[in-house]
Amino acid sequence: MLTVATTPEQAKQVISEWKAQGLTVGLVPTMGYLHEGHESLIKRAVAENDRVMVSVFVNPIQFAPGEDLETYPRDFEADKRLIEGAGATLVFHPEPADLYFPDACTYVNVEGITAELCGKTRPTHFRGVCTVVNKLMNISQADRAYFGQKDAQQLAVIRRMVRDLNMNVQVVGCPIVREEDGLAKSSRNTYLSAEERTAALVLSRAVAEGQRLMEAGERSAATVLGAMKQLIEAEPLARIDYVEMVSWDDIKPVETVDGPVLVAMAVYIGKTRLIDNFIFGE
Ligand code: AMP
Repeated sequence: MLTVATTPEQAKQVISEWKAQGLTVGLVPTMGYLHEGHESLIKRAVAENDRVMVSVFVNPIQFAPGEDLETYPRDFEADKRLIEGAGATLVFHPEPADLYFPDACTYVNVEGITAELCGKTRPTHFRGVCTVVNKLMNISQADRAYFGQKDAQQLAVIRRMVRDLNMNVQVVGCPIVREEDGLAKSSRNTYLSAEERTAALVLSRAVAEGQRLMEAGERSAATVLGAMKQLIEAEPLARIDYVEMVSWDDIKPVETVDGPVLVAMAVYIGKTRLIDNFIFGE
């Protein structure tokens, strides 16, 4: 049976009963409109913990003005079915006013590692993400929290926050789940027209090309990124936000590969901004 909590107090009540029984808790933070990518995180959390809380919350403070906060897709009934089917027992689904005090003035700001990639074009994004994830970790008292490599910089930033603040939670990174044709699953894929959906394949094709070059021994970032950009630029509906190579542990630009690297991109397909990436040498 799936319990729905809409306030932190309701969620804490359920969690405190679990903790009193000595049960372990897994947390899967999401913005809802769930797909098989989210499902893979939930199933892993269910396999590794006694109980799992999934949060479904479109977090306003991680969106900048002009981004898609209002239009972000929502379908809580379908989300509940997927969550229950995957074996989680608690879903936390607050309204913004349930989670944020009107006079809240505390934010979690992870510096440095947020300067590149998405942090460049979305300068307030990670502050919003870290603040809400910190709140969700506190509410759930999670032993483990699950994040997708789809949002690779987010995963690195959360790991750093947990380390720097000595938080008692283990961060678990999970592989990217893709459509059969390669497109990384994303709630935002629903924005794409049929023509854009085809054009969006340039992202995973660029990932495959970058991976192929690096597996063949290429170590120059400029060469790898040049080939990837060329492929993307050949698609008329695509506009590059960034295609970059950074060190995987601290997200700093890399010129020549000599350790684990993240090769990440954000590309507009029409008005929709999509991301994809691969990690090499981990
Ligand atoms: P979101 O609902 O987009 O905020 O994503 C919630 C969590 O699911 C994040 O940790 C994402 O990285 C993860 N996620 C989203 N899409 C995928 C995917 N295609 N494969 C694996 N994890 C994903």
